[in-house]
Amino acid sequence: MLKVTKFGGSSMADAGQYQKIRDILNSDPARQVVVVSAAGKRNSKDHKITDLLYLCHAHVQYGVDCTPIFEMITSRYLEIRDELKIELDLESEFAALKKRLDAKSVSQDELASRGEYFSAKLMAAYLGYRFIDSADWVFFGMDGAVDQKKTYDALKALFIPGQGVVIPGFYGLLPDGNIRTFTRGGSDITGALAAAALDADVYENWTDVSGILMADPRIVDDPQAIPEVTYNELRELSYSGAQVLHEGTIFPVREKNIPLNIRNTNAPEDAGTMIKEAFDTPADPDRFITGITGKKDFTILSMSKRGMSNQVGVLRKVLTVLERHNMSVDYVPNGIDNVSVVLPTATIAPHLYTILGEIQKEVEPDTLDVHDQIAVVAAVGRHMAFRPGISGKVFAALGEAGINIRMINQGPDELNLIFGVDNKDFKEAIRVLYTSFVK
Ligand code: ASP
Repeated sequence: MLKVTKFGGSSMADAGQYQKIRDILNSDPARQVVVVSAAGKRNSKDHKITDLLYLCHAHVQYGVDCTPIFEMITSRYLEIRDELKIELDLESEFAALKKRLDAKSVSQDELASRGEYFSAKLMAAYLGYRFIDSADWVFFGMDGAVDQKKTYDALKALFIPGQGVVIPGFYGLLPDGNIRTFTRGGSDITGALAAAALDADVYENWTDVSGILMADPRIVDDPQAIPEVTYNELRELSYSGAQVLHEGTIFPVREKNIPLNIRNTNAPEDAGTMIKEAFDTPADPDRFITGITGKKDFTILSMSKRGMSNQVGVLRKVLTVLERHNMSVDYVPNGIDNVSVVLPTATIAPHLYTILGEIQKEVEPDTLDVHDQIAVVAAVGRHMAFRPGISGKVFAALGEAGINIRMINQGPDELNLIFGVDNKDFKEAIRVLYTSFVK
């Protein structure tokens, strides 16, 4: 049994968190691979090391002395080291880096990657595990994408089963020998690559919440965590607004059918959320919604034209106009003689009047209206499929709460039920759904 564990920034923020990680690892000998982020915030006023590293690089670029920021960064690591009485000479590595930085010979990516690098060095020394540098196994191709085969082969060759290793997340090596980072939050990807390379039995992603929550905790008080979610549901949830994992994370583990388990470093007794392709667990009769999410600020363009339903090509003409402006459309609800397109307001606003003009000219609708300040709410759940009465219940609950529904959309796979409400009703709609469906 092999478990690859990844600990995010808040799990790496101070000495107390390092101790929690050690306990988590010691409680299960299968947890032999540890991927770490740079130290995150200790409290809401604190800074993430990665942000400070980018800031430091920007200073140097503009010829401003970055010493005070650099010292903020190094002191975070030294504090953890000294508090945990770890034997590790960080000072000489810091000095060498600062010298290169002052000489402007450190790229932005390389500097940003040092947050994870020092985290991993320190954690490896603390645990007595081996340090494996991600520059020695995460390889990018010329196109900037990960060279999967080379990467997997390299880690397989470096890893010795039974011997604990700590690996820095977030970066790898380009063919020219330079460091390249993933996009922000990319340590999740490193963990997924390690799990896939080593054919792990599970990829545990340790964070500061007990799994993916059924609804946004800023909207719903103390929402429950989702125990099990499929990859398809997760895709729906994140597309519709839930912030879950870095986008690139899923692919390597999904491809190899490795379950992904989101866990809480601060509450390791919680089972968290298990993400898999499918589950054998029978549907809970009280729980057919997996999660509720949504986003505000959409615009609906709706047009009607007498006889539209019998005309060929109307929808194509509308979509062609939008395509010309490089707009991807989120939803296309339609009626008999009318059709609407729903897009994020921020996307369409700069081109709105040009687009309206072109639709007017090319489609010649009888009416053409713009509705904005629309929020889209999605109830996602694999158990909704082929179960009559759910949408009835959803809309009845919203009706009772006096929330007017502006649009409804459900795909034939019945994985989600999506509807539009006014922005002002957004939070209430989510709360009403949550209280009506989650017991
Ligand atoms: N430290 C990086 C960031 O803040 C990567 C990560 O933590 O996943 O984006």
